[in-house]
Amino acid sequence: MDILYIVVPCYKEQEVLPDTNGKLLNLLQEMAAAQLVSASSRVLYVDDGSSDATWQIINDLALAHPQVCGVKLAGNVGHQNALMAGLECACPEADIIISIDADLQDDIRVIPDMVNKYREGCDIVYGVRRERKTDTWFKRNSAQAFYRLMRGMGVKSVYNHADFRLMSRRAVAQLLRYRERNLFLRGMVPLVGYKTDCVYYDRSARMAGESKYPLRKMLSFAVDGITSFSIKPVRLILSLGIAFTLIALAILIYVLVAYFSGRAVSGWSSIILSMWFIGGCILIGLGIVGEYIGKIYMEVKDRPRYNIEQKIIK
Ligand code: UDP
Ligand code: MG
Repeated sequence: MDILYIVVPCYKEQEVLPDTNGKLLNLLQEMAAAQLVSASSRVLYVDDGSSDATWQIINDLALAHPQVCGVKLAGNVGHQNALMAGLECACPEADIIISIDADLQDDIRVIPDMVNKYREGCDIVYGVRRERKTDTWFKRNSAQAFYRLMRGMGVKSVYNHADFRLMSRRAVAQLLRYRERNLFLRGMVPLVGYKTDCVYYDRSARMAGESKYPLRKMLSFAVDGITSFSIKPVRLILSLGIAFTLIALAILIYVLVAYFSGRAVSGWSSIILSMWFIGGCILIGLGIVGEYIGKIYMEVKDRPRYNIEQKIIK
């Protein structure tokens, strides 16, 4: 029977953890009873350097329940890195790994379907949201715009899929070989290959606590996603440069015609205007190039992605 690990990254989740744990353990029990997964399946919580009682709660849960494991990171490294730490710890122990957010906004009732797809031969099963009724208007629309932008920029990612997915052990092992520091897992997982499928669910509201993804983090996540996967922005600079040169040529012709027909070109407004315009474009271009150089800088340092302080694996 296959051993399932459910990996849950947690950052300041003291309000939701007890509830989440109850639901996940129930689910594991049901699935074990239905002979879907092994009885030695586990829930693995990764404490992403929380400053509240999160680790204390995980510790207590691990003492009380044999199915609960925990990993404590020494500092906050962000959702994606915390998830990667969890995958790395679970990989040697598990046959199947499912990742899910601690607030259980993703419907755990589709997990048995995911496991069934795995048994039918899929190595990766994506959880895909059917709709976003419960998200705020802003979250819904900004997320939608984000997916569209990603696709426009040529990043292969599954529409309306976040980090709720099943991966087989060999798929995770392959993913762990991607050594980059700018993690954008939902763009990286499709690169692994293998047979994949999707299950669909409705996303519910956060049970308690507040979103750990404020606008600022969402924007930086979007920029990371695009610049780690696509060089289109750099290409855009080139096309802009070519377009500007062509425009400049047209203006040159206009100026020559005006000169020879005796009409003197007067007024500096057009010159000032174009100066600012071109200056702005150059700055934008430099900014985009700088973004990539910054990425290269971070990657060549080859720092560890996280530091595991404590591990409770049974
Ligand atoms: N999270 C984390 N580290 C962080 C921020 C978030 O591990 O620095 C976890 C968080 O505990 C949750 C998941 O990432 O399990 C998703 O966060 P959240 O639900 O707040 O994001 P949203 O659903 O609002 O996008
Ligand atoms: Mg959430």
